[in-house]
Amino acid sequence: MSRAFNFSAGPATLPESVLRQARDELLEWRDAGASLVELSHRGPEFMQVAAEAEADLRTLLSIPDDYAVLFLSGGATTQQALVALNLASPGQAADYVVTGHWGRTALKQATPYAEARVVASSEAGGFRDIPARGDWRLSADAAYVHYTANETIHGVEFREVPDVGAVPLVADFSSSIAAEPIDVSRFGMIYAGAQKNLGPVGVSVVILRRDLLERAGQPRAPIFDYAAHAKAGSMLNTPPSFNWYLAGLVFKWMLAEGGVAEFARRNARKAALLYAAIDGSGGFYRNEVAPAARSRMNVPFFLHDDALDPVFLDEARAAGLISLKGHRALGGMRASIYNAMPEAGVQALTGFMQAFQGRHG
Ligand code: PMP
Repeated sequence: MSRAFNFSAGPATLPESVLRQARDELLEWRDAGASLVELSHRGPEFMQVAAEAEADLRTLLSIPDDYAVLFLSGGATTQQALVALNLASPGQAADYVVTGHWGRTALKQATPYAEARVVASSEAGGFRDIPARGDWRLSADAAYVHYTANETIHGVEFREVPDVGAVPLVADFSSSIAAEPIDVSRFGMIYAGAQKNLGPVGVSVVILRRDLLERAGQPRAPIFDYAAHAKAGSMLNTPPSFNWYLAGLVFKWMLAEGGVAEFARRNARKAALLYAAIDGSGGFYRNEVAPAARSRMNVPFFLHDDALDPVFLDEARAAGLISLKGHRALGGMRASIYNAMPEAGVQALTGFMQAFQGRHG
């Protein structure tokens, strides 16, 4: 078996030790006589797995007790609609800071339910920067302010949590959760699809300040109601138990590796190495994002001649480096270097990039 270094943006590479453990545990869960995938989510086996996953995530992210943690199906996009349904009254203003494709998607998902307003956008500049906080035109009566902590496609990342006063801050952390320590108490709500930094696709994590569970929001079925999910321990209906379990293994792996502070150090080194390779290539490679807003998780880059793109991808694959093709919205290349991408993977990529330039430059 030869596992390549996989730079996919999501579903993304997972720690090999986690995959091996899941493989070993798949056929029969301990002495339960069946696989965890085959057992009731309300049985003692899964209930323990679920409780441990929540406890481990709380430890990893230092989540205060006055925040509920939900494990839900539906992906991050579903949360983008549920935010408005749960936190905004019909027609109430909701402020959106749009710094890339996913901020635009969040806005679109909220629009049927709330008076979703773009209060700042970097779209005119091609989503290559973050609008200065002083230029945001926040509404005093907004239900919440939404932003995308890390734009997976455009490779733009907030380095600081913006101060928006008393209005609850809602953030899409799908592609940067657990990449560095965060002060959860600054947020009303954080959500993330698991398939980048937390585990497999099929489960989302929602971290929600408990007082916001009291908001009336909009008329909605119980299945779209965060308070109902919180009351039911995320088991209002059958939860995505295998995905939840696998995310739990990733949490244990992150804790054993030293927690998010350690990943922040590794991620900083990986990103510095890759951006240095791009910037030091004399224009052979380029990244167009303003340096202060460059993502440490998703690094889009372009070759000076796009006719070389397919050659780059073929030769990279032959060198054991896969999933480097850029998102169709941007073209070029993109290397996603989440927590589970080892530093050796980024070293292999930058070594390959230099050698490729030597052959084709
Ligand atoms: N937000 C961000 C930042 C993302 O990267 C993605 C997926 N790439 C989404 C939202 C949408 O997630 P999902 O496909 O799980 O709905």
